[in-house]
Amino acid sequence: MPEKYQNFIDGKWVDSESRETFENRNPANWEEIVGVFPKSGKEDVEKATESAVAHRDEWANLPVPERGLILGKAGDIMVEKKEKIAKLMTREMGKILKETRGDTQEGIDTAYYAFGESRRLYGVTSPSELPNKTIYTIVKPIGTAGIISPWNFPMAIPTWKIFPALLMGNTIVFKPATDTPATATKFVEILDEAGVPKGVVNLVHGPGSVVGEAILEHPDIGVISFTGSSAVGRRIAEVAGKNLKRVSLELGGKNPQIVMPDANIELAVEGVLWGAFGTTGQRCTATSRLILHKDIHDEFIDILIKKAKELKIGDGLLESSDVGPIINETQLKKILNYVEIGKQEGAKLAFGGNHLTGKEYDKGFFMEPTIFTGVEAGMRIEQEEIFGPVLSVIKVSSFEEAIEVANDVEYGLSSSIYTANLQYAMAAIDKLEAGLTYINAPTIGAECHMPFGGFKNTGNGHREGGKWPYEVFGEIKTVYIDYSGKLQKAQIDTDITK
Ligand code: NAP
Ligand code: MG
Repeated sequence: MPEKYQNFIDGKWVDSESRETFENRNPANWEEIVGVFPKSGKEDVEKATESAVAHRDEWANLPVPERGLILGKAGDIMVEKKEKIAKLMTREMGKILKETRGDTQEGIDTAYYAFGESRRLYGVTSPSELPNKTIYTIVKPIGTAGIISPWNFPMAIPTWKIFPALLMGNTIVFKPATDTPATATKFVEILDEAGVPKGVVNLVHGPGSVVGEAILEHPDIGVISFTGSSAVGRRIAEVAGKNLKRVSLELGGKNPQIVMPDANIELAVEGVLWGAFGTTGQRCTATSRLILHKDIHDEFIDILIKKAKELKIGDGLLESSDVGPIINETQLKKILNYVEIGKQEGAKLAFGGNHLTGKEYDKGFFMEPTIFTGVEAGMRIEQEEIFGPVLSVIKVSSFEEAIEVANDVEYGLSSSIYTANLQYAMAAIDKLEAGLTYINAPTIGAECHMPFGGFKNTGNGHREGGKWPYEVFGEIKTVYIDYSGKLQKAQIDTDITK
């Protein structure tokens, strides 16, 4: 019997009101049911929000360092359970164990960051323009945060949002992706075990179109933090705009790696292999465009294809696998369709492109790492987020052209350049329209204490990581204390230009 999972509402593990369920399966072996989960509805979001509202004061009234200690404890428990979580995550979404361990580690790092931040929620003090008056700021919680997360980083992304939201004193209604509800459940169990009071964190499983929408529309949820596709992000911004909710959006990418002729070619090949085919290309920061200078193009492609052939595709639970399966059948079909589009557009399929079948692969959704050469700027495979192991190679004649091609997409998440020339490196840092620029490193590999997010259609200007999400989850209050004993009028008593 597959394991049965539940929602977590008001500190109790419960079924959905409707008792309906959905299955979570293993993309490396679709016959394996990882768990059965409640298919919740609007009424479950209603209950979860009621609980979140009811427990606001209890949580917000705890001193911040005390909240921090609880979150630090959650980090300790995650350390103990790291291997178990990683294995479960690989079973439910496919990426290789090395990466699911890394995903869990990012959650641990984020917990300890929150613990540290609990002694550092500084405000601002300022001299007043009036005598005998003091000005400073404090930060208050918004109330209840709605957290909606994608499947590709099932632990890291929820922790990026939930730890800051909790430290700031908010209560939570959390809807994880339907492809990865098990890891999300483990995270909520850990928060409970660490001592987050009952009712503060509420977990509601179920489809985005129902549970997600109910969160967006709920008047008692004051801030939404969302990571996912730009299409859904746009919808969220619309609804949040109508309801004047604060919203933080982390969306798609179409990330370029540029290689100049002076680069260390072996290193650049290694970088693109990891950037394009790590997580089976299913990362918002995956390298999906390789922009090669013409002088090294042919040599580079020869080495790249030789190395791509060596990648072992297989079940992520096997330590021998380098590349795991695609998340589900719909996504596999979408990626294979992009391979057809690439061929029709006239790009050359230089490597891969096939759905893998046969003994080892029949039960899951596996495909070959895929490389298109002869890709022209503007082709759909060069512009649209494919979210799979498909790399488009564009040949350019100059540094200026490389930057122009790199920037000519709607997204602006990550970017990379391999070069030994300081001028190229510095100019790329200046010119690349992306929230992340890597020099001599692939487009993936963000660290939890630094801002993470993108320019242009990758988001709406917020950042996760480090201290930045703490701004998303807090309301600033400016305090004026007048101890002059008389009515003082700013701008009127003190016309400093007089
Ligand atoms: P998605 O389809 O947009 O789903 C993201 C989340 O939104 C899921 O929990 C989904 O629920 C929910 N959702 C769907 N429709 C909704 C609606 N109408 N209202 C409210 N919520 C709704 O994205 P995904 O396929 O899971 O993830 C891949 C995408 O995420 C890619 O575009 C990738 O670039 C992006 N991503 C961005 C970052 C970043 O930080 N910039 C990081 C990782 C991933 P269901 O699961 O039930 O559909
Ligand atoms: Mg699954």
